[in-house]
Amino acid sequence: MLIDPFERHVSYLRISVTDRCDFRCVYCMSEHMTFLPKADLLSLEELDRLCSAFITLGVKKLRLSGGEPLVRRGIMTLVKSLGRHLKTGALEELTLTTNGSQLARYANELVDYGVRRINVSLDTLDEANFVAVTRWGKYDKVMAGIEAARAAGLRVKINTVALNGVNDGEIENIVRWCGEKDMDLTFIETMPMGEIDGDRSAQYLPLTEVRERMAKTWTLDENDHNSGGPARYVSLRETGQRVGFITPLSHNFCESCNRVRLTCTGTLFMCLGQEDAADLRAPLRESADDAAVIAAIREAIARKPKGHDFLIDRTSAGAAVPRHMSVTGG
Ligand code: SAM
Ligand code: SF4
Repeated sequence: MLIDPFERHVSYLRISVTDRCDFRCVYCMSEHMTFLPKADLLSLEELDRLCSAFITLGVKKLRLSGGEPLVRRGIMTLVKSLGRHLKTGALEELTLTTNGSQLARYANELVDYGVRRINVSLDTLDEANFVAVTRWGKYDKVMAGIEAARAAGLRVKINTVALNGVNDGEIENIVRWCGEKDMDLTFIETMPMGEIDGDRSAQYLPLTEVRERMAKTWTLDENDHNSGGPARYVSLRETGQRVGFITPLSHNFCESCNRVRLTCTGTLFMCLGQEDAADLRAPLRESADDAAVIAAIREAIARKPKGHDFLIDRTSAGAAVPRHMSVTGG
């Protein structure tokens, strides 16, 4: 088992399988990004080996992310091979976070390989707004992707980043739409990660305001549902719908953190909001035997910090960490 210095059991690994993406969401990336040279990426076989080492060490849940995980060439080979750990029971859940653009193509295969639930990031239901937020996204394609995922039997959770001046007028609409389609919904506060083109403090919309807007239409009851993650939930009394809030800034959730994040180059970040990281690529390539990589993972977990130091206000300049969310997959 992987236990960190604060007695937290690390049982969840998120893997950014590529830093590339077919969108350029305004809060995530700048329009002109410099991506990693392909030669620096771990192969899909190496990613499988690393994930499998984590599973040996007691990791029960894997989430593929990115960049956009479904644009990595051959990604289904990795999903399929990781699926073998579901069959043995060593792994409890294999899932992914996606922008939905490739779901129409891959939804059935995901189900075939054991994926049961996915998160789709969608910040607006207004097509023009969608283009403004994602810059390169195709709204119809994402909507078709979401429908394909539902038709394939995947449970879909929508993640919506609350953005001042962008989707603050759509909160009610998004909640209703998810309710109608029986999809879970979580709102997320924007986090200061990586340089973007605009001013982050102008985009930041505290979820307290989202709650206030929702409370004008529904009665919000605190819900003690615990998904094992950072979200806190409310139930809408009138509809029974559950809505989550991830509030890294207005409420810090680090004390129960059970996760670490692996980049596509084999760097392990023990905290989303801190810079300390461990290189797993060198020990992985050192030998075909996993002893060195397992030792490196244990050593890294022993350094997992207590929490992040995110702060967005008009006096704090720039990003809290220089890397973009796409490096560690959120
Ligand atoms: N491309 C996939 C997607 O959009 O779902 C997976 C990667 S994306 C980096 C993962 C999640 O991080 C998305 O829900 C996205 O909205 C969120 N995200 C990206 N940058 C963020 C930021 N600066 N603050 C908060 N959430 C962010
Ligand atoms: Fe791409 Fe996801 Fe970042 Fe949007 S949030 S640019 S879809 S990685």
